[in-house]
Amino acid sequence: MADKKIHCEKCEKPAVYLDREREIHLCSDHLKESVENEVRRYLITKRLPKTLGVAFSGGKDSTALLKVLSEIRSELPSSIIALTVDEGIEGYRQDTIRAATETCLTLRIPHEIIRFQDLYGHSLDHLVSGSERNACTICGILRRRALEVLAQKHKITMIATGHNQDDHAQTTVMNAISGDVRKIFTGYEPSSWYAQRIKPFARVSEKEVTLYALLSGLFKDLSECPYAVSSLRGEVRTLLYQYEQTHPGAMRNAARCEEEIRERLGGTYQQELYKTCSICGWPGSGTICQVCMVLGKDTHLQNPMTKEK
Ligand code: SF4
Repeated sequence: MADKKIHCEKCEKPAVYLDREREIHLCSDHLKESVENEVRRYLITKRLPKTLGVAFSGGKDSTALLKVLSEIRSELPSSIIALTVDEGIEGYRQDTIRAATETCLTLRIPHEIIRFQDLYGHSLDHLVSGSERNACTICGILRRRALEVLAQKHKITMIATGHNQDDHAQTTVMNAISGDVRKIFTGYEPSSWYAQRIKPFARVSEKEVTLYALLSGLFKDLSECPYAVSSLRGEVRTLLYQYEQTHPGAMRNAARCEEEIRERLGGTYQQELYKTCSICGWPGSGTICQVCMVLGKDTHLQNPMTKEK
């Protein structure tokens, strides 16, 4: 929070935020306006469909996104539907689902929930038992499919997610560490198969998103997912925050680096990457998709997620 004596660059109100990169102070109204304008600038580059799905976990990022979209909904050609996946994480998910339901009621946005237990026959807790350090990888694979099932049910061809600039920067570093260039395209499956993913906060920092949620009165101090603590993302996040302190702009540069690689290498490379799973018929990166591997549907294949046990 900025010093009380410091005023907004655009008006006389007290500043609540210092944009270190642009070296400007903003009051609450102008911070909100700045975030909403950034989302407008992003959405104007997309061909929005009749119905826009929003991946809505109930956490601060997706809550802020839903709020921005509800603020500018009269400008959009799309109606909005919030899509929530209940992975089945004891002691964490119940609260976020409750928060998500309340937010949708407040913003008057239709809400759909899908559960791992119903879709896969197991909760995430059950699936990762004994292999907790791989929870986020498994969760990501299964959640992507679950969202797609919801999208197909509602004929949704585009899904907006709450990923912000910091998330992108972390993903860039994590992908570089993994050494697997194909990971750059994970989550960007060909749109002929999957609903297209868009990230309206791609150029909005996590700090701005958090403040937006706080200032909108929708932020709820919910506990963090218990599996997040041991994740590589958590370590990379800490490292990048430290780096951003001494090198303002580092986060933005890392985020845009991957964006550019994807733009240059996308298209044909993506199409070559995806095959049809011989078990479930969904697209996957091999003859058996990752979902079937995680669920152990092919007993001849070792589940890659359990190798590191
Ligand atoms: Fe899933 Fe990991 Fe996020 Fe928890 S922290 S919800 S396990 S991706």
